[in-house]
Amino acid sequence: MSEARTHDALLANYRRAPVAFVSGQGAVLTATDGKKYLDFLSGLATSSLGHGHPRLVQALQEQAARYIHVSNLYEIPEQSRAAELLVAASKRHGGPGLDRVFFCNSGAEANEAAIKLARKWGGAQDKSAIVSTVGGFHGRTMGALAATGTPQYQEAFKPLPGGFRSVPLNDIEAMKDTVDPATCAVLLEPIQGEAGVLPADPGYLAEVQALCRERGALFILDEVQTGIGRTGEAFAFQREGLEPDIVALAKGMGGGVPVGAMMAREEVAKHLVPGDHGSTFGGNALSAAAVVAVLETVIDDAFLERVRVAGERMRQRIDSFAQAAGVLETRGAGLMVGLEIRGEAAPVAALCLERGLLLNAVRAQSLRLLPPLVVTDEEIDAALDVLETALVEAAGEAP
Ligand code: PLP
Repeated sequence: MSEARTHDALLANYRRAPVAFVSGQGAVLTATDGKKYLDFLSGLATSSLGHGHPRLVQALQEQAARYIHVSNLYEIPEQSRAAELLVAASKRHGGPGLDRVFFCNSGAEANEAAIKLARKWGGAQDKSAIVSTVGGFHGRTMGALAATGTPQYQEAFKPLPGGFRSVPLNDIEAMKDTVDPATCAVLLEPIQGEAGVLPADPGYLAEVQALCRERGALFILDEVQTGIGRTGEAFAFQREGLEPDIVALAKGMGGGVPVGAMMAREEVAKHLVPGDHGSTFGGNALSAAAVVAVLETVIDDAFLERVRVAGERMRQRIDSFAQAAGVLETRGAGLMVGLEIRGEAAPVAALCLERGLLLNAVRAQSLRLLPPLVVTDEEIDAALDVLETALVEAAGEAP
């Protein structure tokens, strides 16, 4: 393992493995000691084009040389271009999609913007409650945290903003019992990422959407993790022909450059007017150039088809060793893959790290794989060889 620099000056809010990287190419990262790692985490679903992608690097270099930032008090053509591409991507397959984009810097900020828009939209009708799902994850800022239905993230930070309730995922009756006339929005992930890659049941999201329409609430999807190609579609909502009112994005959209976005349908978006919301850095020229490079690469039939094929290859291979390696369930879509295992996930992730594979133990018994969308078949096979061996060994060593 490479010798990492001391991080005594950093806040100790992360559990960091003692490894630091100096460079990367595609799905491969090189550590300070020269050891190579297969990056099947993509910086937690951010480095969608892998490392050192020529198109992204060139876009950033050219934009940085021209100018990096001017404020949102002026027109930013790169931001407008990024928004046009996002809107067009949302309308693929002929759905109504989304019409307007607000850029920010992270997933939490995208959800904060969604929450504020929903509250402003609902204000005139006395609707302010927001319903989310147990186990969902929407970010660590106070509003997004209030919508994050996981007590372990919330407990120490109470009081949280009021007006948030959460119901179990895939329980449509609980949703029906909770979405009332005072509800302005339902906010949920198509696939719960941080909960261990837990997909909504087929048809559940459509039922929630119909319920929202019936009761006069907005249907908001948090696609921070699932969006921009990760599931093999531009947006996960397109897998089921859904028509969300608002979508939150971040992570893979910038290919590793920090950027988030909140997209909304015109009739909803129009409720935010100058002075209501903003962000100093949101959608600055550098991050917008990254978004353009990512979208011009990912939003392409052949590219998205490849993501689906690569994901299928992963799932088939995992299924082939599942029984012998103690894998109870394989979940997810495209290149967002979760494994429920019989034993503890953390020792398996540690063994993989030792052997040059980055993935994460997202829950006590769940492993998550999020390779770059450009991952090759050879890299998938090599990574799953390591994972299979690690699973078998960890199962053998478990008490
Ligand atoms: N929403 C979802 C679905 C996420 O997975 C995450 C991060 O993991 C967030 C929101 C928060 O994003 P960020 O860490 O960029 O604030």
